[in-house]
Amino acid sequence: MSETTTRDAVSLTGTDLHLSFGKNHVLRGVDIAVDAGTTTTVIGPSGSGKSTLLRVLNRLHEPDKGDIALDGRSVLRDNPDELRRRIGMVFQHFNLFPHKTVAQNIALGPRKLRGLSKDEAHEVALRQLDVVGLRAKADVRPGNLSGGQQQRVAIARALAMSPQVMFFDEATSALDPELVKGVLALMADLSAEGMTMVVVTHEMGYARNVSDHVLFMDHGAVVETGPPEQLFTDASSERLRNFLSQVL
Ligand code: ADP
Ligand code: MG
Repeated sequence: MSETTTRDAVSLTGTDLHLSFGKNHVLRGVDIAVDAGTTTTVIGPSGSGKSTLLRVLNRLHEPDKGDIALDGRSVLRDNPDELRRRIGMVFQHFNLFPHKTVAQNIALGPRKLRGLSKDEAHEVALRQLDVVGLRAKADVRPGNLSGGQQQRVAIARALAMSPQVMFFDEATSALDPELVKGVLALMADLSAEGMTMVVVTHEMGYARNVSDHVLFMDHGAVVETGPPEQLFTDASSERLRNFLSQVL
């Protein structure tokens, strides 16, 4: 995994983030602070604003109010494309190009956005495929892989951009149960390697055992946050206790 080690792990903070879609006040003053090299898991009911929070943090949506900082420096005045290069994102649906090979899918970003030559980008792709254990699949098309393998390719694609922070939005939700474990194991490896990560997940085992910090959202606000032991064994809010009783 040394290839992905973040020599320059950075912290990420979002402060008093607000966003409305029309009259729907979706983020209502969210604070999140992820120390360099740590993993924060975001849990909460469907519709509570978890995906929107990730999309605001990488400025796919501009916040109506609040600040976002990497390594203690506000990024709101930077070019959003620059920010998105620093933050790798993995979604529920992998969106790999079906007519390109696995290696070509991974090499695309480094070629187009990092300006690497075709050969250099291919080398990067092969190294990242080593990281996710799929080097042997470099020349096949994504359709020939299992969902879990495709998601590992999507993770390799994000890592090939040398991100400083990784976001995962329900990265295992679309996978057959037997394929979830391999993807979670890879995510756990990345956490252990010291990648700064924000992980939206329904996998309470991951939240509890892998993350350094858990943030529970409901109705666009952070209801409770703290180390996993605290939230999972000693939740102070009724809403979190209810949520956990439904998902555990
Ligand atoms: P979660 O990821 O926790 O399930 P979301 O962040 O997807 O929640 O959604 C939070 C709220 O924001 C929901 O009410 C949803 O309908 C609304 N929402 C999300 N994205 C958009 C959008 N692009 N346009 C309008 N409303 C949106
Ligand atoms: Mg979501």
